[in-house]
Amino acid sequence: MPEIRKHYFLDEYCIIAAERRKRPSDFRIQKGEPGDSNSCPFCPGHEETTPHAVAVYTDQGVKADGIERILDWKMRVFPNLFAAMVPSPSRPTAEWIALPGHGHHEVIVDSPLHGDNPAHFSREHMELLVRSYQDRYAHYCCTSDVKYVSIFKNWGREAGASLSHTHSQVVAVPIMPPLIKRELDALTSASFCQFCNIVERESTSDRMIAENEDWVLIAPFYSQTPYETWILPRRHISNLSEMNEEERVRLASILGLALKSMCSLLDDPPYNYMIFQLPSEYHLSIRIQPTLAKIAGFERGTGIYINSVPPEQAAGELRQCLGEAPKG
Ligand SMILES: [Zn+2]
Ligand SMILES: [Zn+2]
Repeated sequence: MPEIRKHYFLDEYCIIAAERRKRPSDFRIQKGEPGDSNSCPFCPGHEETTPHAVAVYTDQGVKADGIERILDWKMRVFPNLFAAMVPSPSRPTAEWIALPGHGHHEVIVDSPLHGDNPAHFSREHMELLVRSYQDRYAHYCCTSDVKYVSIFKNWGREAGASLSHTHSQVVAVPIMPPLIKRELDALTSASFCQFCNIVERESTSDRMIAENEDWVLIAPFYSQTPYETWILPRRHISNLSEMNEEERVRLASILGLALKSMCSLLDDPPYNYMIFQLPSEYHLSIRIQPTLAKIAGFERGTGIYINSVPPEQAAGELRQCLGEAPKG
């Protein structure tokens, strides 16, 4: 019998339809050839084809490109050439309500290696990735006119990645996204933090996948897509800037576990992960959604997702991939 599940604390619903249950292998998709590294603007040697980098992570620390581009990097951050938001947009002609697309849009090239896969990053490299997210958030969170900083990764063409070379994106926008606003309103009007409650209750449920001293990895009760997972801090922190050194190291570890288990169970599926965070009065989370099911008429017409894999089953399979007693 399909089950309608309500979001933990919002008026949102998803449908868990286990009758449509599939095995992980049913989700395998035909992959296209990865793009050629010779024509890849993100590869070392092609730094001149991108805008000047605002942050370059090297063995000698973090620098910015001068007139000469910095070589021998581990990660590079630069403005997106095809930006959804720009610092000085032209004036719109307002018909209904139109705001200037004022903001910032950056690319983080996560690795110098063209064929690198984030699920196979070393622990050190994953730590550097988390640090770059922390740095970019700190850079934009207090910028005037920025209401929200969206940091995310699209992996695979089906998940929206236009280039196969691994990268993340940062989009700082002048509006508060409605979903975040509704979560924030619910949090500030309640006498307790619903996310702290989720951490506490899910960590003893069969939806728990892995944990360490600072973080939990769960398949949420309210899972919109097959094999969706959330990473939540045990401590009530609003954003990545509030993490201490140990929390950063352990976040890198559990994010690595999340990507590794998903990659091995589902044969490197396309996915998106999104970091949900605000300057204050919020509870940080990272939500990972493999792109395995089509968003079709019912979803677009109702905003309700049908998920054919119960999160309890997803968590069990992901746990198995990590071995018996996973620790981040
Ligand atoms: Zn490349
Ligand atoms: Zn909390």
